[in-house]
Amino acid sequence: MGRITLDKVTKSFGETEVIPPLDLTIEDGEFTVFVGPSGCGKSTLLRLIAGLEDTTSGQIRIDGNDATQLPPAKRGLAMVFQSYALYPHMSVRKNIAFPLKMAKMDQVEIDRRVDNAASVLNLADYIDRKPGQLSGGQRQRVAIGRAIVREPSAFLFDEPLSNLDAALRVGMRMEISELHKKLATTMIYVTHDQVEAMTMADKIVVLRAGNIEQVGSPLELYREPRNLFVAGFIGSPK
Ligand code: ADP
Ligand code: MG
Repeated sequence: MGRITLDKVTKSFGETEVIPPLDLTIEDGEFTVFVGPSGCGKSTLLRLIAGLEDTTSGQIRIDGNDATQLPPAKRGLAMVFQSYALYPHMSVRKNIAFPLKMAKMDQVEIDRRVDNAASVLNLADYIDRKPGQLSGGQRQRVAIGRAIVREPSAFLFDEPLSNLDAALRVGMRMEISELHKKLATTMIYVTHDQVEAMTMADKIVVLRAGNIEQVGSPLELYREPRNLFVAGFIGSPK
């Protein structure tokens, strides 16, 4: 499960409409990338899906159910934040377990899920360390682990690699793609980086000032950009 549908969704802050009426379907299991220049509404759109912002109008459906009014915790989605959102005084195990503790889950089940996430993310050897004793990449994996243990129907990433250095970013891109293959769960990934979009996406959504300029696979966008904005942004020769 993890099919997300936006039907005429809009978002205004005061008088300013940052998302004009927008329709979009994200298929179950798909790796979708929202790409576009800074300020085009990528984070706002992701936060609307997560429930961290209220829509001004329109409907959001998750697996066929109307989720427009649901609070974030009831949507079955997990937002992956940048690694600096980790608690420095807690071990890796406690950081990963934190959302489950908050949900008052049974400790045996918490341990099972944390061990599973640590194994998927190759963190088992670091489980008792504090974030300060980890590399940047390991810290980012802990942040992802905190999402995995919730067993969400979709993962939402907002520029998770933007505070990592270039070499590490390339490695983490591959790790996240690998994770998508392992889990086969819907992922929505926000970035302003064209290379990230082209290398990671099943489907790219190109945004400009809150409008969807084009939706397609990396190859479709490269071969058939609908306009000069998409061509320029994707780096297509057209
Ligand atoms: P992106 O993530 O693509 O850089 P954002 O979604 O953060 O863009 O922002 C889109 C637009 O909405 C920007 O013009 C931004 O200034 C505005 N915006 C975002 N959040 C708020 C807010 N809480 N209040 C007012 N304006 C906002
Ligand atoms: Mg943003």
